[in-house]
Parts: sequence; structure tokens; C-alpha cells
Amino acid sequence: MLNQPRSCAEPFDALDSLTSAALEKWWIRRLRKVFTLASERLPYYRGCFRAAGFDPARFRTLEDLRAVPISNKSDLLAIQRNTGSHNLGIEFEADAPQATVTLSLSSGTSGTTFITHTRTWTKMQGRSSCRAHWWAGLRPGSPLLMSAPAWHSYAAIQPFIAMHFGMPCVVVSGTYLPRFADRVVDAIVRFRPRFVTMFLPMVFSILATARQQGIDGDRLFASVQTLVVTGAPITPGMRQHLSRLSGVARVAEIAGSSENLLAVDCERADGLHVVPDTCHVEVIDRATGRAAAEMERGSIVHTSVIPAGSVYLRYDGGDAGVINHEPCACGLPSPRIKLLGRWEDSFTIGPHVLLPYDVQLAIEQEVPELSGAACVITREGLARGTLRVLLAAHEGAAASLLDGARAALSRRFGVPVEVVGVLDLPLRFKGVPPILSEQEAASQL
Ligand SMILES: [Zn+2]
Repeated sequence: MLNQPRSCAEPFDALDSLTSAALEKWWIRRLRKVFTLASERLPYYRGCFRAAGFDPARFRTLEDLRAVPISNKSDLLAIQRNTGSHNLGIEFEADAPQATVTLSLSSGTSGTTFITHTRTWTKMQGRSSCRAHWWAGLRPGSPLLMSAPAWHSYAAIQPFIAMHFGMPCVVVSGTYLPRFADRVVDAIVRFRPRFVTMFLPMVFSILATARQQGIDGDRLFASVQTLVVTGAPITPGMRQHLSRLSGVARVAEIAGSSENLLAVDCERADGLHVVPDTCHVEVIDRATGRAAAEMERGSIVHTSVIPAGSVYLRYDGGDAGVINHEPCACGLPSPRIKLLGRWEDSFTIGPHVLLPYDVQLAIEQEVPELSGAACVITREGLARGTLRVLLAAHEGAAASLLDGARAALSRRFGVPVEVVGVLDLPLRFKGVPPILSEQEAASQL
């Protein structure tokens, strides 16, 4: 039968072979346990649950999640401001006498909080991350190259991943900044990895730096079978573009946050499977606060299912996305999500509330020749009701292509559009910002 979901061909462990219904039951047990322990031991959640009238003992189905209050970054920043402590009352075992605790940082323009990792946290998150990498194609013996910001919780588990699979591994520690791309080029050339995990904006900087050294993308990535990109959502056209530039057959996407969100795409590349052993994900309609319909845009709200270290329960990290509970042909039982960007980068133009992702997707759908061209939207344009797009066009992109993009976007969105081809987009600390003020960018050059 064509529509019968098959079981996962290469499960990481027994969890991958559960049916979706069995995984739901597994999640309910885990969630009830973590809610119960949080209400007993964690002052922040004890207070929230009491105020909302939520009793973990009555948690029976995933529908009951609605009774659990949602927290966000500003809630935690307020505690940090008031107490002057990194300890927010969301940390298991942080004060245990024998606890080995390390800290990482959350990210975000709104402010930074500290995240506590205990030994149990590292073990459980490490295994979960191994599952994510397995789904992305990592197998024992594949030389691995990873790069991540040193402050991110991912940095705390990188050694665990290398040791779990028993593979040679290079961690280009802390140097995820595009201006240090030459170090990563050097590491790839010397180490010849089969599997590379990289911050998306860094990939472009690496390719550009290699080109300056006379090495084209195919040659640089000749040994690489999987290129995992993370840090920003990619459109289908961007995935193909990366594959073309690097010559790597499989470009996979991982979405992860320091606060526990973890999802990765399978070989079907049609949405990112939630990695279920540490994380449960919902998408919430912003207007109603209830579960968004399948594939309808809403807020990504995630809940840790492990009672270790800092725990984030029904945490809204500010990401926009969609969820799909349809069985995937790969056989993995967890639902698929797609992050589409951050709400703080959304903008209103004409009758639409858009994300930069929508503009990127529209460009590649309307003018496939411009697939993968990085673009930013300018605040000056939005201030006068115009979608003004700076497009880092491929070398030699004809003016007619840019004009075609302008006309197509204007038709699609029903607003005035300007498309300006530029050689380079302004790099910031975390890559190219999706929305910027041209004036500010010019003054900072
Ligand atoms: Zn799948």
C-alpha cells in the first residue's frame, strides 16, 4: 500500500522505530514527569503553575499542554534583572554539592540569559544531538568537522558527539564568525572531513575565502558527503544553490537553540523532524493562543522532556514556523517543523505580514536563476510602503533578471517593489541581518 508509513530503515535506536501514536504516549509520560518534578523543585515553574492553576497530576494528553503557561525570554530576563543571578529558578541540580556545572548563553538581540548544564544534561543532550546527526547522515568513522559559537549549548556537547561515534573530529571552536573563514578553509583542506556542520552565513564566507585562494567549492568540499547548515532557515532554492556551489549531494538543515529546541531534516528534506528524546514542539496561533492548524504559521513553542540542567517548559523563543503531523515517507515517527525566521524580523507591507524568508522564497520561485542569492530588506523602503530588496546577485546576473524579480514580487505581493543588485551585503556579528537600515549600514562601513 502506497500510503502505509513504513518504519525507519536505519533507526538510531528503538525510539526511532515507534509509531507516531506510541511516540505520543512516550512524550505524555515524559512531559508529566518533567512537569511534576518542576512543580516540586523549581521555584519559577512552581509559581507559574500555581498562578495558572495547572496541576501536573492532571496532565493526561497532549491537549492538556494548553493548561501549562507559556514563558518567553522577557520573563526570564526580568528574573535575572531582579535577582542579579544567573540562577533563574529553572535549573535542576544546580546547587547539588557534587554537581559539575557549566554555563552557556542564550542568544538574541533582546538580551542574554545563562543556561546551566549538569552532567546528566550533557549526557542526555549529547545523545539527542547524536540522534540528530545520525538522521542527517553521520555514521561511525566519518571524519567530522564542526563549528559553533563557543557560547552556545551545542559547544558543550560537541566532544560527546565525537566520542559517541568514535570518529576523528575537528571542532573549529568559537570561530563561527565569517571573518575567520580562512581558519575553517584551512581545517577542511588539511582534514578532509566527510561530514561538516556549519553556521549558514559561514558557508558563504568559506566558499568566498577559498575562491580567493584559488580553490573552488567542488574541490574544497570534495571529501564531504553531508553538509549540515544551521543558524538560519533555508529555502529549497537555497539548499540546491548550496549543493551546486559545494558539489555536496546532501545538504541538511538542523534547527537548534541553546534553550533546547532541536529538529533536523531526514533524507526527504521536507520539514525537520523534532528530535523527541529531549524536546517536544508545538506551533501556536498567535491570535488565539491555541494550536495552529497543520502547516499554518504560528509561534514555535518547545518543551524540554528531560529533568536536568536549565529546563524550558512551553518556551516561546520568538521563532515563527509551521508543523506537519502527516507521516513522513522516511518512517521517523516525530512531526516535522519548519522554522521560517524570527518574529522580530517580520514586517508589514500592504495587507501582508511577511518574513524575509517569504521574500527569498518568492524570488526563487519567480526567477529560478536567482535561487540562493542572499537578500536583505531595507527599513527605509518599508517606511515608505515599498518592498526594497538588496540582492547579492550572482556574478554577472543580468539587469533583466533583477527587473524580472521586481515585477514578479510586485505582482505577487501587490505593493511597490525595488530590487537593487549589490556586490556584498553588510556582514554583522552573526552574518547578514535579514532586515536593515541602509543608512545605518553605510555609516558603519
Ligand atoms: Zn522524514
